[in-house]
Amino acid sequence: MFRRILIANRGEIALRIIRACKELGVEIVCVYSQADADAPYLDLADRAICIGPGPARESYLDISRIISAAEVAEVDAIHPGYGFLAENAEFAAICKDCKIEFIGPSPQAMGILGDKVQAKRTAKQAKVPIFPGSDGEVEEEDEAVEIAAKIGYPVIIKASAGGGGRGMRVCHNEVTLRTALEAARQEAQAAFGNGAVFIEKFLESARHIEVQVLGDKHGHAVHLFERDCSMQRRHQKIIEESPAPGVDRKKIDTICIAATRLIKAANYAGAATVEFLMDDRQNFYMLEVNTRVQVEHPVTEMVTGTDILKLSIQIAAGEPLPFKQRDIIHRGHAIECRINAEDANRNFMPCPGRIDTWIAPGGPGVRVDSHIAPGYTVPPYYDSMIGKLIVHADDRQAAIVRAKRALEEFRIGPIKTTINLHQKLMDDPAFVKGGVDIHYLERLLDA
Ligand code: ADP
Repeated sequence: MFRRILIANRGEIALRIIRACKELGVEIVCVYSQADADAPYLDLADRAICIGPGPARESYLDISRIISAAEVAEVDAIHPGYGFLAENAEFAAICKDCKIEFIGPSPQAMGILGDKVQAKRTAKQAKVPIFPGSDGEVEEEDEAVEIAAKIGYPVIIKASAGGGGRGMRVCHNEVTLRTALEAARQEAQAAFGNGAVFIEKFLESARHIEVQVLGDKHGHAVHLFERDCSMQRRHQKIIEESPAPGVDRKKIDTICIAATRLIKAANYAGAATVEFLMDDRQNFYMLEVNTRVQVEHPVTEMVTGTDILKLSIQIAAGEPLPFKQRDIIHRGHAIECRINAEDANRNFMPCPGRIDTWIAPGGPGVRVDSHIAPGYTVPPYYDSMIGKLIVHADDRQAAIVRAKRALEEFRIGPIKTTINLHQKLMDDPAFVKGGVDIHYLERLLDA
């Protein structure tokens, strides 16, 4: 096991990694920006190093400052969490050059699965279902038009290096496709430093279902079942749950096994998520692979009794997976509600600022992952998520009851949060029935 780990992240995920390190008996080095100097979790670290001003570009995204801190503190590994540098292959490679273990996949595996075109190619070989579309990058307008004619409109143009829902364009006919292609390429080049784009069939209505997978450095891989993350706004997930309600179990099992095959094919070590869209006939198509731990990993931890963060560290340290596929049992139902510092009545405007009151719920089957304490000021520079409520119960209905009970216990003030929205959703007939599609929340909010 590592002796000392640097956490190249902030907020709730920094605290989550601290908790895993403590239980593994590993020393912790936190880096923080000036805007996070008062973050309560820094007290739990063995050492905290300021790496620059609030804006992420000058701190959490600044590779040289993070590597300098790692060298000064003599750490043997870096955990990137999610966001920031977690999916940056250059950062992973620099860590390697500096003889610091990057807790995540090798730069090669990240290159194969983190790039959408390459991931699709590998998926096709591993017999993972993908959207019909271009076989790799499209360069010529005529080529794009030909493919679109074959698969049928609407189609979507996506950047191979894309992320965060950016750089995608839906085209309903040849005219829009021709004009959008060059624009998409330029946009991708400017945003991601890689102008490669591809096209695939666009599904008007779908559910987002993803599979949690783990691979080790000894060629073993397992899946930890699925999560349904269809409750989204502007491609941002709001609620995640497991199992996916109302989906044929056989179909899901097939997809889970396919996802495991994919990470094996990529020689992938670490935690990853294979994301799929599912159409209304329960056909699955792979969207992309996230080569890191995800925000919603606790949902899976609750239903499988695993600790994905600890496992990510153990795998990086070279330990084999401690279980086989048949040892992993899915139990009950878990739901996660993301608590964001946003005003749902004002178009989800972020509401940074001081939190005077913070009382989090507890009791059976309730977990709150948050770095907040009374007196904490939410800085304006970062994501507005301030915590996650995760509930677990025997079945979905009981989990919803539990979520409502826990949401009611929350006392947060004076800033606005998404708790009210979650309370409404837990009473929403379509959500309670289960199986809403990825545009449901936006339709509900527009109504
Ligand atoms: P990113 O990496 O930018 O998040 P994804 O490939 O994961 O990009 O796509 C983000 C979202 O865009 C999906 O969750 C879905 O809502 C929509 N989307 C992407 N591809 C398709 C598609 N082929 N059909 C329908 N919706 C799509």
